[in-house]
Amino acid sequence: MDARALDPLYDIAIIGGGINGCGIARDAAGRGASVVLLEQGDFAGATSSASTKLIHGGLRYLEHYEFRLVREALMEREVLWGIAPHIIRPLRFVLPHHKGLRPAWLLRLGLFLYDHLGGRKRLPATRTLDLRHDEAGAPLRAGYARAFEYSDCWVEDSRLVVLNALDAAERGADIRPRSRVTGAVRAADHWQIEVEPPGGGREIVRARVLVNAAGPWVHEVLAQVLRINTPANVRLVQGSHIVVPRLYQHDRAYIFQNGDGRIVFAIPYEHDFTLIGTTDRDFGRVPGKPVASPEEIAYLCAAASEYFRTPVTPDTVVWTYSGVRPLYDDGASKAQEATRDYVLELEGGEGEGGSPPSGRPPLLSVFGGKITTYRRLAEHALQKLGPFLPTLSRASWTGGEPLPGGDFPVDGQMRIVAQLKRAHPFLEERQARRLVVAYGTRALRLLDGARSAADLGRTFGADLTEAEVLYLMREEWARTAEDVLWRRSKLGLRFTREQVEALDAFMQASMMRQPQVSAARGRAS
Ligand SMILES: Cc1cc2nc3c(=O)[nH]c(=O)nc-3n(C[C@H](O)[C@H](O)[C@H](O)COP(=O)(O)OP(=O)(O)OC[C@H]3O[C@@H](n4cnc5c(N)ncnc54)[C@H](O)[C@@H]3O)c2cc1C
Repeated sequence: MDARALDPLYDIAIIGGGINGCGIARDAAGRGASVVLLEQGDFAGATSSASTKLIHGGLRYLEHYEFRLVREALMEREVLWGIAPHIIRPLRFVLPHHKGLRPAWLLRLGLFLYDHLGGRKRLPATRTLDLRHDEAGAPLRAGYARAFEYSDCWVEDSRLVVLNALDAAERGADIRPRSRVTGAVRAADHWQIEVEPPGGGREIVRARVLVNAAGPWVHEVLAQVLRINTPANVRLVQGSHIVVPRLYQHDRAYIFQNGDGRIVFAIPYEHDFTLIGTTDRDFGRVPGKPVASPEEIAYLCAAASEYFRTPVTPDTVVWTYSGVRPLYDDGASKAQEATRDYVLELEGGEGEGGSPPSGRPPLLSVFGGKITTYRRLAEHALQKLGPFLPTLSRASWTGGEPLPGGDFPVDGQMRIVAQLKRAHPFLEERQARRLVVAYGTRALRLLDGARSAADLGRTFGADLTEAEVLYLMREEWARTAEDVLWRRSKLGLRFTREQVEALDAFMQASMMRQPQVSAARGRAS
């Protein structure tokens, strides 16, 4: 490699700024490692913004006897809620009993395990509903008389990713979006990683250990970037969602059993909408930008229409999104049955099992996983890397430290809203709530110094102001309207094409005028 070699020598370089890469970066930085994270696009630009957004044990995985995964995931619900109470909230799920599908005793057994496997403390337990009298029955077809209701949590998935990146940066990590890794070779005791930085050209980054958290690209990175001859242990499974105008008034979600053995969720979404998903189908090619196919849209509409009194039809769909699960290939015959557990593969190093490492610099590749288990996955990754980085702290810490803006009790959200409104009485209630749900206590920082609505600058659409956009550019690496409207928020649901263009033009002009806005976190991009 002839590109310019740059100091320093990092302890860990991570390829991929999805939830797993950012989670590992945060954990490692907090243990005292010097970390560089390299993401080819925007954070959560791939699978980690395309999930169903549940922090859940996965009731369905009990049928596949994935007790380890379910237990770990169930326990994570309250841990993650505790460190990010602004972007994570409890959600009750209504599971209507469908004669002819799973019998009631089986559902009861599954829910009993669900209630008791995972150290539930604050989330309410399962109960049985009479749908003829409960308001959850009102939007459903007449045949559904009985349901079970249980707890899981909801998360703003892409914000969880960026908050992990932000926390890692605040703990000293060098976080670099828009930096594609194009090659990497082993030197005697470190990796030399070739990176295409945002402005073009090439850079070399050096690190003792390399982590491949490239999600759906995990095998491409192994085969084409690192040129390692290895079997493709990843199974790419596409999943799509549809968003329709709000289908019902209460705040609970539904989990519907489908005739093909799958389940489909219908979830209250962004106040005015209902989110319905997901599908499971093998995705043969190297991921580009997957889109929901007409067949998937029709499938989701049909599945929901089995249950809702008012049929859901494709012409009411206002938005769709699609992602590719990078599952570990366990040889399951059906896509829906492939394990959702994660596998960490260590290559090189020869130091596994506690013996002092020697030999080639190690590479750790991440396969599979869930948003829900990212924090535990990061802990396991650092356990595996520990022998190569003996100065790192061994103590787990990420479950007890809030993510940025999450430094308040889980029942304290309305108190922060009130505090924000006291400091800025001109704020509308709905705007104040949206800001607190997105930024937590950092909403106070975002609005600092504003005495009137005019101090927040122009409004681009919905209630998105110049002050918020500049905050996202300065603090959260946002560079385009898409970053702001679809990954830092979901305001894209409320923007017209003209408003999107105006926002993009403003952001490009701001970067030209004030390069420091774009350079705030680490490096300019
Ligand atoms: C439809 C669907 C629904 C889901 N629902 C849930 C759910 O409700 N709850 C849950 O817990 N989990 C859910 N999941 C699973 C979860 O979303 C994924 O397990 C998780 O997001 C994977 O994260 P990741 O970091 O491994 O991958 P990604 O988020 O895809 O991140 C990988 C990153 O690597 C980057 N990259 C790739 N190659 C390079 C390179 N050469 N240089 C630099 N960067 C590179 C990519 O740009 C990408 O951003 C769902 C998944 C899908 C698809």
